Amino acid sequence: MYKYVGKGVFKAVAIGKVSVFKRNEASVKRVHISDTEHEKERLACAKRRSIKQLKQIYEKALKEVGETGAQIFDVHMLMIEDDDYNESIDNIIETQHVNAEYAVAVTADNFAEMFSQVDDSYMQARAADIRDISNRIISNLSEEGEQESTSTGRMIVCADDLAPSETVSLDKERVLAFVTAHGSTNSHTAILARNMNIPAVIGVGEEFLANLSDGTEMIVDGYTGEIYIEPDCDIRKKYEEKMQEDNEKKELLYALKGKDNVTLCGTSVEVYANIGGVDNIAAVLMNDAGGIGLFRSEFLYLEGDDYPDEEKQFNAYRKVLESMAGKKVIIRTLDIGADKQADYFHLDKEENPALGFRAIRICLSNPSIFKTQLRALYRASVYGRLGIMFPMVTSESEVERIKEMCEEVKRELKGSGIEYSDTVELGIMIETPAAAIISDRLAPMVDFFSIGTNDLTQYVLACDRQNPKLDEFCDTHHEAIMRLIKITVDNAHQYGAWAGICGELAADMSLTETFLRMGIDELSVSPGYVLKLRDTIRHIKLI
Ligand code: PEP
Ligand code: MG
Repeated sequence: MYKYVGKGVFKAVAIGKVSVFKRNEASVKRVHISDTEHEKERLACAKRRSIKQLKQIYEKALKEVGETGAQIFDVHMLMIEDDDYNESIDNIIETQHVNAEYAVAVTADNFAEMFSQVDDSYMQARAADIRDISNRIISNLSEEGEQESTSTGRMIVCADDLAPSETVSLDKERVLAFVTAHGSTNSHTAILARNMNIPAVIGVGEEFLANLSDGTEMIVDGYTGEIYIEPDCDIRKKYEEKMQEDNEKKELLYALKGKDNVTLCGTSVEVYANIGGVDNIAAVLMNDAGGIGLFRSEFLYLEGDDYPDEEKQFNAYRKVLESMAGKKVIIRTLDIGADKQADYFHLDKEENPALGFRAIRICLSNPSIFKTQLRALYRASVYGRLGIMFPMVTSESEVERIKEMCEEVKRELKGSGIEYSDTVELGIMIETPAAAIISDRLAPMVDFFSIGTNDLTQYVLACDRQNPKLDEFCDTHHEAIMRLIKITVDNAHQYGAWAGICGELAADMSLTETFLRMGIDELSVSPGYVLKLRDTIRHIKLI
């Protein structure tokens, strides 16, 4: 048995088998082979497997995001059959007597290079597609022997680190827990794990990966940050009991479903849930959240290799609104940049990405991307109670530009006879010190504020949220943060807006009473914390 300790980011326990996360871009070696026919047979087999997988992905996407969103996988299937692509691979195998992996990788490089030189954004985007299908074929070449069918059931995903885009592309139904060697508690990967309602431990250190392979037994303790590889009987028994205890506690919390979020002295507060995608809705409903306080729409952009078009976005927003059946749904517009990167945005590498070209700055500089999202949002607004919220705002002029853009989109929709709701609420995130300090000026311009304590903390305390070394310096209870939250809530109320918190601090139950005393109207937390927070609120006495 091996034991390692990292930081727990979602309090729960899992016992299961490991699946070591394999990055598709695994380096490909050039190997001399003599039997080129055999190599071509291996290739044909890997292509067949790739097409089979893509068919399954297409079916899944069709159900989740509709026809338009699923189409890309159809295109990928066609690309695998493309004559020029296949001729190039065959030629390389035959003339250079090399392995199929190498021939596919070289062809992918050549084709991607060719596509990216064409002065047409559609063709440029195909470069990412060619790399994607080639990586799939390469990984299937190295997984000969029908490995894919051996790992059924839910697995504990172990990796050195996971980028947000990698996390979203995991099959959520098959992930039992996460363990990573690196990562910080407020990173988006940690947040995604919380949204998925699964135990997660990060920052375990690289050594743990050396003792793992697919199928290894593991216990993950999201409370203490401990992980056990090949646990002995005593530890296993201890954790089986802990899981049993957790389940009993969960049952008690489920008894709070349908109850009000009201303190002993009668103060009520909304308890909403944060989500990263349509997949999280089941957890929201199961935990009886009063609404969705933050839908991080950027994950729609991260899961594909091209901009999600209006139709794909409309289908996702509509689905969330319909599933919430009239409860409030606050969708945040694209917050890409910093740690959330998608290749097709072609964002420059920056010295200080968190202080860089991200979120609303990208949207205001690229009206067509922004308008596509706003059109999809307004079109979906007729299917429920929508609030739209804008990230990383620092000034009144940004809010003016945002509102002008919303008006323009509504005018265009009206002109084309497309319906939208007149009651969409507009809000901004208060996640920069500037926004908190001038919240008296911003409040009259919006319907609500949602305080993003994750970024607010990093900017107020000058602590990069991606840097695990800074966790100990990142005092989330710092007086400066508390004062800015109080100023924001007071200013919202003075000018007729409501104020909530959607950063991770909303789930810090040692602060719930403080927030209620400040007069906070809403707290939005990962679905798994909703009932616990309701329980906490119901035990608080303010007067
Ligand atoms: C925040 O900054 O607190 C927030 C909710 O946004 P994100 O974590 O997605 O940056
Ligand atoms: Mg933020």
